[in-house]
Amino acid sequence: MTETIAFVTGANRGIGREISRQLAAKGVLVIMGARERDRGEKAVAEMKAQGFSAEFVHLDVTSQPSVDHAAAEIERRHGRLDILVNNAGVALDWVPASELTADAFQETFETNVFGAFRVTRAFLPLLRKSKRGRIVNVSSRLGSLSINADPNNSLAVRNQLLAYSASKAALNMITIHFANLLRGTGIKVNSGNPGFTATDMNRHTGKKTVEQGAATPVRLALLPDDGPTGGAFSDEGPEPW
Ligand code: NAP
Repeated sequence: MTETIAFVTGANRGIGREISRQLAAKGVLVIMGARERDRGEKAVAEMKAQGFSAEFVHLDVTSQPSVDHAAAEIERRHGRLDILVNNAGVALDWVPASELTADAFQETFETNVFGAFRVTRAFLPLLRKSKRGRIVNVSSRLGSLSINADPNNSLAVRNQLLAYSASKAALNMITIHFANLLRGTGIKVNSGNPGFTATDMNRHTGKKTVEQGAATPVRLALLPDDGPTGGAFSDEGPEPW
């Protein structure tokens, strides 16, 4: 049987590293993208020490040459890609909207929106060579317009992450557009919400473990051929846009 090949961005720590581990535990060859070579190679070495198939590819999602180089490298090594997980992300704005700077807003979009778009676009030709391509955009309930628009929703009331939330709403639109574009090709595109997970991003205040946070993105990465496309999901089921 042909091996399934996945590429995970921001795979050196947090949810991305755990997504990589869970995919590898299912027999997937995981290519781990990281912007710091040392940290990426260390994460790959840890996977290999556990007996998993893993490779390293350097990737900074904010750099078009870096993204193009990563796509060319995976094409050279494998000639195709079955699963793309757009996981790399930042949350820089833990302040009320009135105190958010345009620079922090822009920097957030550079990674969470343009980064995911750049990577999706660059890797689409390789995904088209797969028999069953899957794209998972690691999103967040904070990106839900309907939740944020509900004044009685406790998450909306507490939410002080305008740039991050807007970036995940934009990422969800990327999910919808690529899902519509690729409908009928066999390539499925979905947003996966990990839930509030203890990682460096929130100084480990999240309530879920990385094992729990990675579960939904992994499930979407391994969707069967009759699975959904163009949706947002958490471990509770479909999520509101
Ligand atoms: P994390 O521990 O801070 O990890 C973020 C990862 O993204 C790191 O590997 C980081 O690499 C990488 N990254 C950031 N900018 C990058 C760039 N320009 N190019 C390549 N890689 C880059 O955060 P996390 O909690 O695991 O978050 C992973 C994803 O889950 C994010 O998209 C986040 O928005 C989403 N999410 C998290 C939660 C949560 O509660 N934690 C909830 C919902 C959604 P470096 O090590 O080089 O910085």
